[in-house]
Amino acid sequence: MIIVLKHEATRAHADAILAAISREGLKPLYMPGTERVVLGALGDERVLAGLHLESHPMVDRVVPILSPYKLASRELYPSETVIDVGGRLVGAPNFSVMAGPCAVESEAQIMDTARRTKAAGATFLRGGAFKPRSSPYSFQGLGEAGLRLLRQAGDATGLAVVTEVMAPDEVALVAAYADVLQVGARNMQNFRLLREVGQAGRPVLLKRGMAASLDEFLMSAEYVLSEGNPAVILCERGIKTFETAYRNTLDLAAVPVLKSRTHLPVIVDPSHAAGYREYVIPLAKAALVCGADGIIVEVHPEPERALSDGRQSLYPAQFEELMKGLRRLAKAEGRVL
Ligand code: PEP
Ligand code: MN
Repeated sequence: MIIVLKHEATRAHADAILAAISREGLKPLYMPGTERVVLGALGDERVLAGLHLESHPMVDRVVPILSPYKLASRELYPSETVIDVGGRLVGAPNFSVMAGPCAVESEAQIMDTARRTKAAGATFLRGGAFKPRSSPYSFQGLGEAGLRLLRQAGDATGLAVVTEVMAPDEVALVAAYADVLQVGARNMQNFRLLREVGQAGRPVLLKRGMAASLDEFLMSAEYVLSEGNPAVILCERGIKTFETAYRNTLDLAAVPVLKSRTHLPVIVDPSHAAGYREYVIPLAKAALVCGADGIIVEVHPEPERALSDGRQSLYPAQFEELMKGLRRLAKAEGRVL
């Protein structure tokens, strides 16, 4: 629940109420605003009845949070969250562009991609070192060697590194190299992994499961937030439908719906949604226009030789073209790119 304090309430009053909330076994939140202080109590609210907070002399009103994902909800935090990744801001009005290959394959491949995407205007370098593949016989990623190459390419170009972590016991390793920890679609409901990245001290890019409802998606974000990590970026990457003309169905309606329900930034992955590079640019542009806070897009210097997802990877020249289009649209939409 949300407890709005009166104007005259002091920090000492707030602390006393927060301590009482803690004593009842609930998680207390302190949210000072410009006008007045708001407190939160997360957990089984029934146990708070005995505290009679509504009649406390320093409490203006007590409001229940109706949504099941309390920390992710707009009810608790009405204004949009902007996440600072080493000076790169993710969240409105910024439009973040994360680009790179599906998987890190070699030093030359990742360095070349990083230089070219950076020159075109990207601010984040993506690339998998640990790859979730449908077949156990497919390329699984370079592991820690891939993380080292990503870090090297990020440092050389000034791009922030975003890369996937697949297992709870690999979070510390990936966090040692990455600026942003990606949780993939297949792991959206790996609750132990969500809790672990919630404690890793790095922003998290959480991809929507391919068969997950938006409520389930937001509940997964809540797992990360509830561990004390406030920096969660949501990513719509296409869902499974009956359509076979593309790899997944990009659910663009998810963008405005998520943005109405949560304060967290929402980005779009047009590459895994499309599955074919010729559809990536229009989907990426549509993402900007429908209110997304960024995109994560696959780019490879030689897509025909890629070890994974070559068919959906843009050529660097296509990425440059995409950036030009996005800049035009950003201007029209009042986004900072
Ligand atoms: C990826 O971004 O490399 C990836 C595997 O995406 P997803 O988890 O959305 O399938
Ligand atoms: Mn991929």
